[in-house]
Amino acid sequence: MEALTAEQSIAAITSGQTSSEELVEEALRRSEDDPWGAFLALDGERARRRAKEIDAAAERPPLAGVPIAIKDVLSTRDLETTAGSQILKGFRPLYTATCIKRLERAGAVVVGKTNMDEFAMGSSTENSSYQLTLNPWDMETVPGGSSGGSAATVAARQVPWSLGSDTGGSIRQPASLCGVVGMKPTYGAVSRYGLIAFASSLDQVGPLARTVRDSALLLSHIVGQDPRDSTSLDWWKPIEVPDTERLDGVKIGVISEMLENGIESGVKSATEAATATAAELGAEITEVSLPSSRHGIAAYYLIAPAEASANLARFDGMRYGARAAADDLLEHYERTRGEGFGPEVKRRIMLGTFALASGYYEAYYARAQRVRTLIVRDFGEAFEKVDLLLSPTSPTTAFKIGERVDDPYAMYMSDICTIPMSLAGLPAISIPCGVADGLPVGLQLTGPAFSENGLFSVAHALEQAIDFDALPETLS
Ligand code: GLN
Repeated sequence: MEALTAEQSIAAITSGQTSSEELVEEALRRSEDDPWGAFLALDGERARRRAKEIDAAAERPPLAGVPIAIKDVLSTRDLETTAGSQILKGFRPLYTATCIKRLERAGAVVVGKTNMDEFAMGSSTENSSYQLTLNPWDMETVPGGSSGGSAATVAARQVPWSLGSDTGGSIRQPASLCGVVGMKPTYGAVSRYGLIAFASSLDQVGPLARTVRDSALLLSHIVGQDPRDSTSLDWWKPIEVPDTERLDGVKIGVISEMLENGIESGVKSATEAATATAAELGAEITEVSLPSSRHGIAAYYLIAPAEASANLARFDGMRYGARAAADDLLEHYERTRGEGFGPEVKRRIMLGTFALASGYYEAYYARAQRVRTLIVRDFGEAFEKVDLLLSPTSPTTAFKIGERVDDPYAMYMSDICTIPMSLAGLPAISIPCGVADGLPVGLQLTGPAFSENGLFSVAHALEQAIDFDALPETLS
């Protein structure tokens, strides 16, 4: 069976050509055969039962029983949720994340949980303490991260779409490396209730899909205020599925800092070609500078670890998941955390604890927060001149497995183009814009807060005009 997009799946179910049961069965078949290591767990029994219920229901829900995969950082009741960490091995949450509940209510069927960097810390999914995930375009390369499993499964056409989470780039960068669409909504658009926290002022849940329209459709079902997350926003405007063709009058600013050093030439030329396409569609193109964005990585690697060091304090071996045997309480904590956390997580806890320590707080954490404010201001000034910003998503295409594992700095640079938007809480989308040396290149569009509909419109028009050959089905 040809792998349908979510939109095509809904149409096929609605017209009676197929059923949710058939599509879920097909998704499970494709997901069981998983040479990419995209999944940590499948939930076949429940998925089949849900599909049957939806097919038998008097009224078909809007998502009609289409299968979906979920990053393992989102809590699923009774289904193991590990966040890629040994410390949560065997953890079965008592509740399901709000965003998943909303999707299930709308008729999506969860088929399984996808692999990720431990606690979403990483850019290649190599920090998962369970397994590697391979990029379906080239199995010697990484799928990006931390939502690598969610990106790979969509690229490999196991499922039409998935959920990921993005703190500094974790949806957009793997989407870029795997040639799929990935979207980080405005901070607060999607409830974080049930999302295992990494850096709470940055974490957002968002969609990965093969098309911009599917991404918009998925987001439309998860946005909205949730009394269980006080940072979730009252979403007054529904997300619309776009059908724009032209970009007349749209002002696009190309971020000058993001076409400088460190951007691979193939990425640069694909970005320039996409910019030319936007101009052909009628957009007005200018160059825009975000001078403080060059300090984004430095600020992020103080703020995110600081928040992580506090958030991860709860994993003490008492409340969740794995627990080490010990004679006294202190030894119990030390052994559980010593054995349960991997090296990158430990590095960040130490970094964050140090940055928050009295005497250092002002020099590191408070300073990083001030840089964050400067970055927010740069974006504010840019959006006085243009409607949205354009840049590469990732400075490079997919890199080789192992290439950056011993060099945290090189790994951190993977997010040089995505972190500034995260620090400013802005919505941003990555769409495939070309192929360089056989690997996909992602284009990032960023808009002001709450500009999701505008972003999707422009992304859709560009997606239609860009000649991107997705991975042939025969290869996947
Ligand atoms: N790669 C970045 C990090 O390691 C971003 C991760 C994310 O967005 N969760 O922190």
